[in-house]
Amino acid sequence: MDGRSRRIAIFGGTFDPFHNGHLRMAVEILEGLSLHRLFLVPSARPPHKPSRPMAPAEDRLAMVSAAVAGIEGISVLDLELRREGPSYSLLTVREVSDGNPGADLLFLIGADAFAEIAAWHRYRDLLAACDFLLLPRPGIAPGASFPPGIRIEPEGNRCYNLPGCSYRLPGGRRLLCPVLPVLDISSRSIREKVRRGRSLRGLVPLEVERYITDHGLYRGEESG
Ligand code: ATP
Repeated sequence: MDGRSRRIAIFGGTFDPFHNGHLRMAVEILEGLSLHRLFLVPSARPPHKPSRPMAPAEDRLAMVSAAVAGIEGISVLDLELRREGPSYSLLTVREVSDGNPGADLLFLIGADAFAEIAAWHRYRDLLAACDFLLLPRPGIAPGASFPPGIRIEPEGNRCYNLPGCSYRLPGGRRLLCPVLPVLDISSRSIREKVRRGRSLRGLVPLEVERYITDHGLYRGEESG
């Protein structure tokens, strides 16, 4: 296959747990951008999350893997579990890039996370390492998630074949802001529901619901 035309997305996250917001976004992008492949990358040791107790990385990886098993075009990478040290996205982008020479890499990031990107490890190098695609989160307008101090220039009003806006990042990479459904689901709200004994039906894939029950996850108090 001619690697130069391959468009590959990286969707990293703590996925504690993986929920239908993550899943639906992955499918929307896979289809909307005609991706060659979308990689879900569970973070082993997320450097940006507050220090609260977290489900073991192996459980989070198992939930993501069960949720997307059999979905054509989506696969899970365990490279952040195999690496030592904090799970820096820059290292992940480089590893995926090395493994897929010539592919166009696109890093998916929620508007909440993008607003904090200046706190990420070597964020300027990361912003220059691949294109980015902003996922909508409830209550955050795309422009409002642009961190002050980073020059982001409007460029156009299409994101490949999806409606939306595109911008130029410092370093020349693109930031795509396609129009996507806003799904008001968060891992935190899922953990909270489990603690309160509420149903997760419709919020997480059935495989994830079963895994949480079978392994007794998220029953303890959450701090932070
Ligand atoms: P928590 O509630 O624990 O903070 P989360 O639901 O934001 O977790 P993460 O694993 O931190 O989940 O998310 C991974 C990535 O997916 C982040 O970039 C995040 O912004 C994005 N994301 C999470 N939930 C959604 C959603 N419902 N719609 C779009 N993007 C999402």
